[in-house]
Amino acid sequence: APPRLYLGLDFGTSGARAAVIDDEGTLVQDVKRGYGDGAEADWAGAWRRVLFELIGSLDPAVRSSVASVAFDGTSATAMLVDPRDGTPLAPPKLYNEAQGRDVVAAAKAMAPPAHTATAPTSTLCKLLTWWYGTDDGAAAGGGGGGWRRVAAERGLATPGPGGGAAAAGSAAPSPLLLHQADWLAALLHGVYGSGVTDWNNALKLGYDPELESYPAWLAQQRFAPLLPARVVAPGAPVASLDSRVSAACGLPPGCLVCGGTTDSIAAFVAAGVTEAGQAVTSLGSTLAVKLLSTTRVDDAAYGVYSHRLGDVWLVGGASNSGGAVLRRFFNDQQLRELTPRLDADRPTGLDYYPLPGPGERFPVADPELQPRMSPRPEDDALFLQGLLEGIAQIEAAAYGRLAAMGASPLRQVLTAGGGAANPKWTAIRQRLLGVPVRAAEQGEACYGAALLARQGARQAAAAASAAAAAAATAAP
Ligand code: ADP
Repeated sequence: APPRLYLGLDFGTSGARAAVIDDEGTLVQDVKRGYGDGAEADWAGAWRRVLFELIGSLDPAVRSSVASVAFDGTSATAMLVDPRDGTPLAPPKLYNEAQGRDVVAAAKAMAPPAHTATAPTSTLCKLLTWWYGTDDGAAAGGGGGGWRRVAAERGLATPGPGGGAAAAGSAAPSPLLLHQADWLAALLHGVYGSGVTDWNNALKLGYDPELESYPAWLAQQRFAPLLPARVVAPGAPVASLDSRVSAACGLPPGCLVCGGTTDSIAAFVAAGVTEAGQAVTSLGSTLAVKLLSTTRVDDAAYGVYSHRLGDVWLVGGASNSGGAVLRRFFNDQQLRELTPRLDADRPTGLDYYPLPGPGERFPVADPELQPRMSPRPEDDALFLQGLLEGIAQIEAAAYGRLAAMGASPLRQVLTAGGGAANPKWTAIRQRLLGVPVRAAEQGEACYGAALLARQGARQAAAAASAAAAAAATAAP
């Protein structure tokens, strides 16, 4: 039998990557592509082009053995599309595009206090910008007029806050909101209609993964028909590859497209943690902690919220501290050269709170908090150790805060990002955290997406054999 392989596709901020793994989780092939110069003039076109370039650059033998595919995309990257074929009706609104004050106020008026969907960059605020037409004059398909004009030209309904007009009679289909990962998956499975998304991408739209539905405050809105109707678990089987797409791109006809997730959750999934109490600290430019918990914890004041992964919660928070502060004083080579001179067992007692500037959100919520990085000792190694101890203190306080909020107790920490490579820092952190700390073997989001694809294929296979067994029992 041909090997069963699983494809994960990560569409990040600067480019896209694909990883193919086998049943054991071994990486079989990975490829990456930038979006290219001028991509910002047509993001959707660039994503589509890069998707098929990535698939096309897989070894033919690998490509023809892919049993399932899953995507991750940047969180809260929103698209408004034609529900019949996915054609964008307006340029996508990217993950980091903050929406206007009026729209944020409208989101706050409908959502519960401090809901994550009320952040200025949330998917809900992006949808509301389109809905209220505050950027209706923006070029979409050239010449201005916005998405309603494009929708009307295509014979779609053009609902609006004032009652709206149906361009081609009341039976005209309504435009559809999709996230980047949803849209890319739909390019493969070809199922648009009322739309498919996942619990993780839909969180910033206002979806409630505990209820497994849109809450009443959202479902009762006039724009609710634009929301993707089917919201699946990350990694759940969604649909098989469209046969024409299969013929064109060389992935096998029965290839299963699975529910996706966001880029940061995919990077967490890549570390391979599965049990409550296991955590991943990302030591990149910023310090982010994510903990698997049996309980859901949300606290907007600290920017802490929970995503649902299977039957557990992924509780996350981020500090403004992190590697960016180190980089202000030392380049990566200096960090490597100074590190052997650090003594993890002899704390400096410097008691720093390293920050790139004033203001912190988690584990301390204080927009005025001042960085504390002085006095600076003459010895650079001592100074560096003080900084690393300070960041480790913040990490320990972060997990302490999550526990105080009711999350599962910390049992183990895996580390991702540039700081994971520093053995002395790992030793300092282990002392302060009081649990085993080690580097995550895999930290790439595309690898996490491939794990989700594998999960979906296994789930579909189990369901098929259960159905076959039931049919065999039922047969005379
Ligand atoms: P991002 O993708 O968030 O920019 P990376 O995961 O690439 O970040 O990590 C980069 C960060 O790692 C830098 O800010 C740098 O200060 C830090 N870093 C790099 N090498 C080391 C090291 N040897 N020890 C500690 N920190 C390091």
